[in-house]
Amino acid sequence: MSYVDEVLAQVQQKNAHEPEFLQAVTEVLESIRVVVDANEEKYRKVALLERLVEPDRIITFRVPWTDDNGNVHVQRGYRVQFNNAIGPYKGGLRFHPSVYQGILKFLGFEQVFKNALTTLPIGGGKGGSDFDPHGKSDAEVMRFCQAFMTELYKYVGADRDVPAGDIGVGGREVGYLFGQYKRITDSYEGMLTGKGLTFGGSLIRTQATGYGLLYHTEEILKLNGQNLKDSVCVVSGAGNVAIYAIEKAQQLGAKVVTCSDSTGWIYDPDGIDVAVLKDVKEVKRARLTEYKAARPGAEYHEGKGVWTVKCDYALPCATQNELDLEDAKVLVANGCKGVFEGANMPTTLEATKYLQENGVLFTPGKASNAGGVATSALEMSQNSERLSWSAEEVDAKLKSIMYGIADTISDAAERYGMKGNYVAGANIAGFEKVAEAMIAQGVY
Ligand code: NDP
Repeated sequence: MSYVDEVLAQVQQKNAHEPEFLQAVTEVLESIRVVVDANEEKYRKVALLERLVEPDRIITFRVPWTDDNGNVHVQRGYRVQFNNAIGPYKGGLRFHPSVYQGILKFLGFEQVFKNALTTLPIGGGKGGSDFDPHGKSDAEVMRFCQAFMTELYKYVGADRDVPAGDIGVGGREVGYLFGQYKRITDSYEGMLTGKGLTFGGSLIRTQATGYGLLYHTEEILKLNGQNLKDSVCVVSGAGNVAIYAIEKAQQLGAKVVTCSDSTGWIYDPDGIDVAVLKDVKEVKRARLTEYKAARPGAEYHEGKGVWTVKCDYALPCATQNELDLEDAKVLVANGCKGVFEGANMPTTLEATKYLQENGVLFTPGKASNAGGVATSALEMSQNSERLSWSAEEVDAKLKSIMYGIADTISDAAERYGMKGNYVAGANIAGFEKVAEAMIAQGVY
């Protein structure tokens, strides 16, 4: 049995109850097979793959908090510190009822390779809780964040582990979490990113994942003789990533006609009005029915449906496994030429394969959404030197990192005879860097 197959079998046996983690590991190991086969003896000797698929540690804790009526609730909190071979653990916190260890292990694993691709010195981690911020008052969210950090503070720090936001964790939550860390430790350090601009946050961090996705898309399209100008795009999600992806796509000349949230989706034939969307989601924290109310020309539909709209390019920006084989078939039948992931693993393995086999350009989230964590690393740099860079400076760095990632994954795929297979290119390029650092640092 090959080394990859052996390790995959072990991972399946040990993590059978964590399908998302199995999916992420399968995608990565399958696509680095060619590199592993060429270096089998060297990697086996130090159990490289076995160490790569096992988190350094997983911290699980109880988070009790009190609602506005005085009722006490207990949530589960986690931090998965996956791999710090190339820098302190870095990765977001997710607050969503679906959160369990398997989701955070998949996200932490992906983060290791993503962070390597940014070229910046950051390792991979992820954390969060099954807490649902929907419908909670600001005071409830604050008490939950304070309770969460009261346990988490023991394990994080500017040179140790630096969390950030993710689904359900935005500027408001990061502010409360930072305040509690400062209060408990009596130290002012950059141990969280995505902070407010008045207390160490970086300009462009809010926009970074969405903008970065579009810079990346621009470069991949350029490598393939295409561009965004006058194209029609469909976007899923209506959160941080989706909003700024739509904004930048429109700045680059595309028309974005859809967005979605956890209850329904919008088709706006005139193009999504980003100002209205921001007001509904960032200010009012309301449902997309409010968008429809403000834009009578738009259609609101319950449930899922973004991928049925005819488009040139599709940008999934909501959550994992939101684009399945049936969706991929509809996209191909409608002439879609490219799918670029803004969310983490939004496309199932079967859908990815179908898109690639049908000539659709496809880039995985670990490459195309790396702009968020890259800008978080730039926030860490600014915190370390106690300076704030201008928006233009950060944006220029973000752009250069995202163009660089597109070129790196394209070159890596070509080096191994898989031109245009950006999934393989991203996994190989990320793996090569992490593997080299792990081997150099010895077995532990
Ligand atoms: P937000 O919480 O800001 O937005 C998430 C959006 O997706 C919301 O519109 C939400 O709907 C919708 N959504 C969430 N879960 C589901 C679900 N199960 N079914 C349908 N819709 C859902 O999160 P982000 O925009 O930050 O994150 C989106 C994706 O991007 C995630 O995969 C995240 O891991 C990834 N990502 C985020 C980065 C960042 O910097 N924020 C960086 C890199 C990746 P509703 O409005 O109803 O809540």
